[in-house]
Parts: sequence; structure tokens; C-alpha cells
Amino acid sequence: MKIQFLGASQTVTGSRFLLKHGATTVLVDCGLFQGFKNLRLRNWAEFPIAPEKIDAVLLTHAHLDHSGYIPLLVKRGFRGPIFATRATIDLCGILLPDSGFLQEEEARLANKRGYSKHHPALPLYTAEDAKHSLDSFKEVSWKTSTTFTRNGAGRFEFEFHAAGHLLGAASVVVRAGSSSVAFSGDVGRVSDPLIRDPQPNFAADHLIIESTYGNRRHPETDPEEEIREIVLQTHAKGGVLLVPSFAVGRAQLVLYYLHRLRRRQAIPRLPIYLNSPMAAQANRAFAAHASELKLAPGELASIWENVHIVSSSEESKALSEKTDPAIIIAASGMATGAF
Ligand SMILES: [Zn+2]
Repeated sequence: MKIQFLGASQTVTGSRFLLKHGATTVLVDCGLFQGFKNLRLRNWAEFPIAPEKIDAVLLTHAHLDHSGYIPLLVKRGFRGPIFATRATIDLCGILLPDSGFLQEEEARLANKRGYSKHHPALPLYTAEDAKHSLDSFKEVSWKTSTTFTRNGAGRFEFEFHAAGHLLGAASVVVRAGSSSVAFSGDVGRVSDPLIRDPQPNFAADHLIIESTYGNRRHPETDPEEEIREIVLQTHAKGGVLLVPSFAVGRAQLVLYYLHRLRRRQAIPRLPIYLNSPMAAQANRAFAAHASELKLAPGELASIWENVHIVSSSEESKALSEKTDPAIIIAASGMATGAF
């Protein structure tokens, strides 16, 4: 088996690893480069291998730096299956079309304001391209060996193991010939109150590990306590607490902390608004995969019992004029996409 690194090297986005065994070629993750412009420009470069020569994609999780290039790969000729867990497929159904929509918006604004060198400025892909790519996804079960081969020439065997981090996120062990390699994907913290802990119960000859935070230590503070202090300070001033948050994963975590604080009456019963239709969709995906969370049955539903979900732009505009004390979790417009 040969491995080629096509991204996430010397930077933490654009995860893509190409595996070759016999006549079969498999790509592990298919991420977008994100961040500064010089990185984002790399998304426009020709893919290092013709997409039609890739036979399958194994996707560790739904975050765009791992999945966001999929619509373009399909648009440029990839025709194979994309293997992922059910929860990852569900989250990609939310995140990829939104990524296409944001790119269309960016191109539209660039054309309107004339700040692009390209005339007309075009999106990398559209929401429609993204929806089309969803047809290629194939569900894999947790901890179950799946085999894939192109016409029997070069057989890959792989297994998905829970990696914490995000609903559906996996580490993937790939075996081919006499060797095996594990791709960690993004690995979550065991202290996450919502997402189940990583379960790295596997063996492999080689390990390729993502290390986004490899050069720093997480602070040992209690996020619930920090949120409590900020809510109380803002309430004491009679202000509105605005929480910018990625819509998928982080918004649910913030809501969970607020729910716990309300339940133990550590914060006043302020109205909570979730200003993102995408976060509301993500809530449904979390509910559909409650068995992969740490919460007791029923607890998940109670998290968003007192949350007002803002789904129209009129409602959203009205919120920005709000002056009564409230907590607003704003996912769109303030923090585009998910990371
Ligand atoms: Zn991630």
C-alpha cells in the first residue's frame, strides 16, 4: 500500500490522503483548505490526481476541512462510493449544501462589488452540486469490516471506530495486502459532555494522526462555569448576550451548557434564541443519533425545550434590534460554515 499526502500537511485543513494498492486507489478524507487566502486558493488548483481515477472515498467526519471538497471531486469526474457513518452522512447533508450556498453568495457579492480579478467570479461549487454529491454516500456500520476493490485488483478492508469530536466522527483503520494504517481523523476530548468518548480499540501497523492542537494544552477551566459568569455579568448590566457559534456541534454544546445552568438555577431564565436554521437541522440530526451521545434518554429533548429557533430573515433582523436581556446564539452571518 502506498500513501500520498495531498493536504493537511504544514497546515491543518484540506485533509486528503491517497492510498494505492494494486489497481485500486482510495482517498481518505476530501477536505477544503480553509483560512487565509493563500490556503483557500489551493482549492482552485487542479486536483493532484484525476478524480475519475479515484475509486472510493473514506470519510472520517463531516467537518468541511475533511469533507468540503467532495462536491467538486464529484463535479470533476469522481464516480465511486463515499463511505461514511450514518451520522456523518446526515451532517454532510446539512453542511455541504450550505458550503455551496456560501460560495455562491461569495461569488455573487464579488460580482456585485467588483472586487474579484475574475469576471464573472464563480463559486467553487454550488448548493446544487453539493446536493448531487450526496447521492454517492454509502453508509458503513461502526466497528464492522467493509471491503472494497476495483474489479478485484487491490483489495482494501476498512473499519470505522468512534473518535469523539463530532457526531459520527471516526478514526478509520485501513488494511491492504500485509499492512494496515489507521487515520485518526479529528480526535475529541474525553471531557466532552455531549459526544461520546473516542474508542480507539484497534491495532494498526501505522498511525496517521491529526494534530490541530498538537502544540498547545487545553486550559483546565470549566466551560460551564465560564458561561455562567458571562451570563450573570451580562444580565447584571441588562444586556443581550450574543454567542457566535458554529452551527453544527458547537451550537449544541453551548445549548447543553445553558440547559444545565438553567436546570440548577445558576442563571436566570432568560429567553434563548438560536439564530440559525442550519443549527436547527443539526439539532434534528443529534436527536436522530442520540445513542451516540452521552446524554440520558429524554435529556436531549429538554435541551432545546426552552430555545426559540429563528428561521426567517425577518425574525433574525428583529432580533438584532432586541434590547431586553436575552441570550442569542448566532451561527450564520457571524461564523460562516462549520470547522
Ligand atoms: Zn473536525
